[in-house]
Amino acid sequence: MSYLRCSEAVLLLFTFVQLTAALKCVCHLCVNHTCETEAEGACWNSVMLINGKEEAVKSCLSPSELKGQVFCYSSRNVSKRNCCFTDFCNNETLHLSPGVILGMCAVQNLWCNLIKAHKQDPEEPLDDQTLVSTDKCLKELIYDMNTSGSGSGLPLLVQRTIARTIVLQESIGKGRFGEVWRGKWSGEDVAVKIFSSRDERSWFREAEIYQTIMLRHENILGFIAADNKDNGSWTQLWLVSEYHEHGSLFDYLNRYTVSVEGMIVLALSIASGIAHLHMEIIGTQGKPAIAHRDIKSKNILVKKNGTAVIADLGLAVKHDSNTNTIDIPINHRVGTKRYMAPEILDDSINMSSFESFKRADIYSMGLVFWELARRCSIQGIYEDFQLPYYEQVQSDPSVDDMRKVVCEQKLRPSIPNQWQSCEALRVMGKIMRECWYANPAARLTALRVKKTVSQVTVVKDVKE
Ligand code: ADP
Ligand code: MG
Repeated sequence: MSYLRCSEAVLLLFTFVQLTAALKCVCHLCVNHTCETEAEGACWNSVMLINGKEEAVKSCLSPSELKGQVFCYSSRNVSKRNCCFTDFCNNETLHLSPGVILGMCAVQNLWCNLIKAHKQDPEEPLDDQTLVSTDKCLKELIYDMNTSGSGSGLPLLVQRTIARTIVLQESIGKGRFGEVWRGKWSGEDVAVKIFSSRDERSWFREAEIYQTIMLRHENILGFIAADNKDNGSWTQLWLVSEYHEHGSLFDYLNRYTVSVEGMIVLALSIASGIAHLHMEIIGTQGKPAIAHRDIKSKNILVKKNGTAVIADLGLAVKHDSNTNTIDIPINHRVGTKRYMAPEILDDSINMSSFESFKRADIYSMGLVFWELARRCSIQGIYEDFQLPYYEQVQSDPSVDDMRKVVCEQKLRPSIPNQWQSCEALRVMGKIMRECWYANPAARLTALRVKKTVSQVTVVKDVKE
């Protein structure tokens, strides 16, 4: 304790004395290995132990980061950090004292072990037994955080530390905002969604939604960290999440067909993810109801085990049931036009009821089920991959194009006759129709869909 107070005092002294102009600093992750701070920023120098090796990170600190005070003092046992205030003053490479290296593990293992040791006092030294390094540390760390922590994510400093020690590997996707990369963190693959500083609000919003208390679920993309790093000239905004090598359901269905079981597993996990989002859990460890507002095959990812996770929560809205309000001002018609529910297309949606947003998600989910069921291969028979309404509209349809088809002509994707000959596909077809009703109140709920789909598996299991 006294150590921290001492450091804080030193830091405060520094910040008072050194009111600096812009500085040039050594920066590991910047072009030319140089960054420039804003006025009253600092150069940052740090070293920490990652998988038993010292890893140095050098960069610029913005005035707000400097103010946050967490970056400039060394946390006992984990890392050494230093802020300085002259050009390239962070050139020197720091080393951990042998005691730190011997006695402590990498920052991720420290957190893992702290959690494993069930909230052991962080000031207590850990013994060798609790310090065993684990390969699955990141997953355990995140998973355990849900049950033992606040239920809303990792501590911010840990998030930042993770984000700043990721090495980007390859670009894997592009969507509405920025670019998604595969990166490596401590030997594990992670996905990094990089937003441009222009889209700061979207970055902030998505990070905020992912950190909603108790959001974590096996069918919702596992969020790891958010980081905003000012490198002097621009701000890099990162969202780090679990990486799924199959990519989106859109990519997966384009590439592969699925068996009946494969289809049911995917449909069940999609419905479960959406049901969890939609559900309000009451209590101090509860969660608000959330509507996604951009459900489509490109925003659902496929895990290695053949289940799915709901991703891209950038447009999601939360419901406050106490005040019956939505947490952000609603801009009209967000989302992807092809997947928009009829009431959004013709503007008849009742925005004052949160149920409306859930019901619009259900309509879109029905379209995703249709994309999925077409790829279900039964005795070698299946359809090619197509987007919903591919027969009616061109690529990138306008709201008006969609409205004519969906609201005026009241068309829906066609359900092939041969689906009638397979129990699972018959049920899927029935679910879709009940998700596509023009009357939003008549549609199934995600929970109902989940139950119906899970019963298909049971029926099948019994039969075979
Ligand atoms: P945007 O908000 O820009 O639409 P998304 O979050 O939807 O961004 O990601 C865009 C694409 O990047 C996805 O359709 C998918 O192909 C890929 N992608 C995103 N996150 C991951 C991940 N965690 N693992 C693998 N691929 C991903
Ligand atoms: Mg997307």
